[in-house]
Amino acid sequence: MTTIPVGADDRLPMVDVGWSLDNTFATDVPELHVEWQPASVPEPELVTLNADLARELGTDPGALTSSDGVAVLAGNATPVGSRPTAMAYAGHQFGGFSPRLGDGRALLLGEVTGVDGRLLDIHLKGSGRTPFSRGGDGRAELGPMLREFLVAEAMHALNIPTARALAVVSTGQDIERRGNVPGAVLTRVAASHIRVGTFEYAARLGDIEVVRRLADHSIQRHYAGISDDGRYLAFLDAVVGAQASLVAEWMLVGFIHGVMNTDNVTVSGESIDYGPCAFMDRYDPKTVFSSIDHGGRYAFGNQPEVNLWNLARLAETLLPLIDSNSEHAVTAATEVLDTYTSRFGSYWLNGMRTKLGLVDSEAADESLVGELLDLLRVNSADYTSTFRHLARSLRGDDDGRDASFGVLGGGGGWVEKWNRRLGQEGRDRETVADEMDRVNPAYVPRNHLVEAALDAATSGDFEPFNALLAAVTAPFEERSDLARFAEPAPEGFDGSFTTYCGT
Ligand code: AMP
Ligand code: MG
Repeated sequence: MTTIPVGADDRLPMVDVGWSLDNTFATDVPELHVEWQPASVPEPELVTLNADLARELGTDPGALTSSDGVAVLAGNATPVGSRPTAMAYAGHQFGGFSPRLGDGRALLLGEVTGVDGRLLDIHLKGSGRTPFSRGGDGRAELGPMLREFLVAEAMHALNIPTARALAVVSTGQDIERRGNVPGAVLTRVAASHIRVGTFEYAARLGDIEVVRRLADHSIQRHYAGISDDGRYLAFLDAVVGAQASLVAEWMLVGFIHGVMNTDNVTVSGESIDYGPCAFMDRYDPKTVFSSIDHGGRYAFGNQPEVNLWNLARLAETLLPLIDSNSEHAVTAATEVLDTYTSRFGSYWLNGMRTKLGLVDSEAADESLVGELLDLLRVNSADYTSTFRHLARSLRGDDDGRDASFGVLGGGGGWVEKWNRRLGQEGRDRETVADEMDRVNPAYVPRNHLVEAALDAATSGDFEPFNALLAAVTAPFEERSDLARFAEPAPEGFDGSFTTYCGT
């Protein structure tokens, strides 16, 4: 892609916030970005800063709360060493191909080496129009940026690979959505922002060397152990494994991404782009919350399969690198894709065993889990709290607070069956219960709580947001003063709840 020159006069001030930025993506694959500057905002105000994440970046949080720091987080200044770029990507959206999407309201500022030695992207979202904006205003709304912050940090606390959220800054500028709403900029941090759609864009340029450089860059950043021999097939295999594991993690916590287009699927295996996402309350694989997902393509239960479909789109872009003989390439790539279902299945089943306090594998475990999920579905039981209640029952202190748990006990004797299975392993029940509580969250960002917190925040009251953030970022530690965050949505809430995309 031709770089659109930015005149010196248009350049924002450069300030030092203690970051020494690299620009390896921009340097390695110059065809896949446009150098671009953020658009200034009138009155930036720091709404929330993730001080722990700042420290993981080796950054003094004070440097980011200073006026220079806030200017960087708002896009009113750029950090020393930064070459802000809008990344190019394509994508299959709801199955249809869009050849040119790209960062229409986001910019990669560059990469920082974190304290653990990993290279991490620093990325602004809501930083103004770019050559990829199409009809959009390049801006982001405060509510959805706070939602992304909350969900990203909740996912991280649940030990699920994810892009992180560093800060949200309000801009002092209203934007036009469903009426006028406050604008904001989110700063996020990720292993990279390379998507399946980035590969699709590169492949469409018609120069296989660009795809090769993109793959080499991705391997170096995410799968450095891959050797030269058969490296592009090994890369596909690594991404397939990482994505199978990621989606298994989503399924285990009841997370619905909502818009699993190929432009929202990373090659790093991190979750990214929290738009119309949500956690499911009542268990039902058909659950959809997104306002734009009319056909239920990205319903909870479809996620594993649609993820494989997305990975097949990645495989197509790599074929010429896998083997110069296209038939051989297709055979080899298909063999790798064919491993997905069993890899996903074993990640998921092992995860379910752990959620149920089991350590050994038994052939009947799959049906034990299947029966539990059927019971939850038929009784519209709350997914998250069921597992906490099961652990509580092992301690003999189930207090009957949860109706769904009563159903499990009464309906068909599932709990007795599970208890017999635990009995075979012969482990101490208290120990098992404690282990279960370390993997089954008490607190997830439940939709009704998120809605209430974002509504309050957009009218200037950040207390509910901060309280919810504190709960979901220590999700396994049950605290009596937070009981209301563990409770299911009020009756009738789920049916009416809708999430919006691209807001
Ligand atoms: P998303 O739904 O956030 O994954 O975005 C899908 C595509 O639409 C990406 O190319 C975004 O950059 C673009 N996009 C979303 N919202 C806007 C906006 N307000 N202005 C410009 N581009 C946008
Ligand atoms: Mg996206």
